[in-house]
Amino acid sequence: MMKTMNDLFGRIKEAETIAIGGHIRPDGDCVGSCVALYLYLKKNYPDKKVSVYLDHVPQEFMFLTGTDAVISAKGVETCFDLFISLDCGDLSRLGDAQALFEQAKDTVNLDHHITNEMFAGTNLVEAQRSSTSELLYEYLEPEKIDKDIAAALYTGIIFDTGIFRHSNTSRRTMEIAGHLMEYGIEHWKIIDESFDQKTYIQNQILGRCLLESILVLNGTLIVSCVTQKTLDFYEATPDDLDGVVDQLRTTKGVEAALLIYETGVQEYKVSMRSNGVVDVSKIGAFFGGGGHKKAAGCTMHGSFYDVINNLTEHIEEQLLNKE
Ligand code: AMP
Ligand code: MN
Ligand code: MN
Repeated sequence: MMKTMNDLFGRIKEAETIAIGGHIRPDGDCVGSCVALYLYLKKNYPDKKVSVYLDHVPQEFMFLTGTDAVISAKGVETCFDLFISLDCGDLSRLGDAQALFEQAKDTVNLDHHITNEMFAGTNLVEAQRSSTSELLYEYLEPEKIDKDIAAALYTGIIFDTGIFRHSNTSRRTMEIAGHLMEYGIEHWKIIDESFDQKTYIQNQILGRCLLESILVLNGTLIVSCVTQKTLDFYEATPDDLDGVVDQLRTTKGVEAALLIYETGVQEYKVSMRSNGVVDVSKIGAFFGGGGHKKAAGCTMHGSFYDVINNLTEHIEEQLLNKE
């Protein structure tokens, strides 16, 4: 069920210099899809000059072959023939690579966010897909994939599906994961080392977030806040908060979970998860962010209380309208 050649690879064939980039604060799907496409092009199109840009690679994905090629776009001024944006819903989320995207002669936007703003020359967006890695696989020729490429795509899929547990997991997702296993990847090891394992610090922060969480809206919403001071105390970075909001969401009785952490003076990153009734992508988009129905995010300003109040209002409204 390979996609037609003219959409992604039609663009690639016409380009000599290609840049690949994904969203800021990259997650498993973002790193996985970017590295998979980078390796695939290096292997099968050796004459093309390919660069891959991300603001950083979280430690747990560094085991993937190809992550050592990832560089920062800060200060880079190259004019590429083609820029391929992966797993990124809007242009500003490309961070430093946004300038490279804007200068590029041709652009592709391959993504699965429902809030995608269709900002490229060619937009290959399928919101029903579990992950960008799953969608990217559909464009690749199976015989040109190798073990390293398969490992990167598999990592992307397991991250965005919570190891095939979220409702975005389809029969096709499982089929693709099955195909990827045939390249000899150590799938159990990928899951254990990049998804399950937590550093001591990460577990401590998780514990602290659970301990300090509050229930509002009659127990239907759970909220936890992390100050910069707390992050500093544990010598933690925002990457160390990965998975915390997902754990909050598992609290019995809640419809939605919020993790709010300080990123600057009166500036906060909000991570939202829903069990299905609340569409958090709408709330994310309202506050200038985006995402999916059950997982979304945005950046907000004010005090913790302003942020909680503003978000709670939207969640309550949706809950009342659904009754
Ligand atoms: P997170 O809560 O950061 O794990 O993000 C959940 C989902 O929402 C992911 O698919 C993100 O790509 C998306 N997302 C998070 N923050 C933003 C934002 N500020 N703008 C657009 N999408 C976001
Ligand atoms: Mn992502
Ligand atoms: Mn994704």
